[in-house]
Amino acid sequence: MTSKDTSLRGREIFAVFLLLLSSAAMAQDADLSKTRLKVTHVAGSVYMLEGADAGNIGAFVGEDGIVLVDDQYAPLAEKVQAALKSISDKPVRFVINTHYHDDHTGANGYFQKQAPIIAHDNVRKRLESGGVAGNGSSVRFDAKPQPKEALPILTFDHDITVHLNGEDIRALYFPAGHTDGDSIVFFPRSNVVHMGDDFGTYGFPFIDVDGGGSINGFIAALETVIAQLPQDVKVIPGHGPVSSVDDMRVFLKMLKETREVVQNALRQGRTLSQMKGDRILDPWKKYSGEVISEDAYLETLYNSLTSQKGGTFLKHN
Ligand SMILES: [Zn+2]
Repeated sequence: MTSKDTSLRGREIFAVFLLLLSSAAMAQDADLSKTRLKVTHVAGSVYMLEGADAGNIGAFVGEDGIVLVDDQYAPLAEKVQAALKSISDKPVRFVINTHYHDDHTGANGYFQKQAPIIAHDNVRKRLESGGVAGNGSSVRFDAKPQPKEALPILTFDHDITVHLNGEDIRALYFPAGHTDGDSIVFFPRSNVVHMGDDFGTYGFPFIDVDGGGSINGFIAALETVIAQLPQDVKVIPGHGPVSSVDDMRVFLKMLKETREVVQNALRQGRTLSQMKGDRILDPWKKYSGEVISEDAYLETLYNSLTSQKGGTFLKHN
């Protein structure tokens, strides 16, 4: 990723977070009304829908119907529906949420009129309770409690398999990574994986420490998944273009190196403000974005490595 790309993605992600923040829908509706969804054939029976820098939607199509992975912001629901019509005239049968953030679950209420939503237990809990998403320091967003029609009807605690269109689609729970309710979704026959926000191409990741996420869980999930994926698998990131397992390896390397630098500084008794002053993450500054800046990512690592529990948001088990 070039630094130009990084800063562009940073601006786009900033828009995502503004939307997360905003409870006044008027301005965002106006902006989102201009959004065009881009449809990409990923591989096999899986497509990717991108738009408004919300989370990427995976759409698995076949004679039995459509399975969606994530559903973006509520105001985009009809555009998602129209984009689906361009690839299949079959009904939506199931929607899987990779985690609770509203750029991935915002249209749950719309799509649950057509098909049940499936997610990890903690996704339902956090959507129901609302709370704060954040890195435990400067990055902080309100997550509003969601009405019951937006809550996943089917929940699981470890994994679930959906048998449709001749494929065994597997959603597997990875604890305490981006949040405490992350699922990674595998399409073994199509040879595609949807990573949710456990992998993104926008630079330093947002890790929702307040929502039960952690750098250690984030790294553990990536290590586990990378070890199991075929080399030629197509990767749908939570945000960004279709990627490869090698892209994930590069990202994982950065995460492990930056964690180690902060761990070493902690062993030496350095405080967060001293680490900021020392610019200890400067070697990776090309990953710095406008919301998850170098400092915000340093805060994330510091808070994650020094606290046994999340921040202000009730931790669900
Ligand atoms: Zn997210």
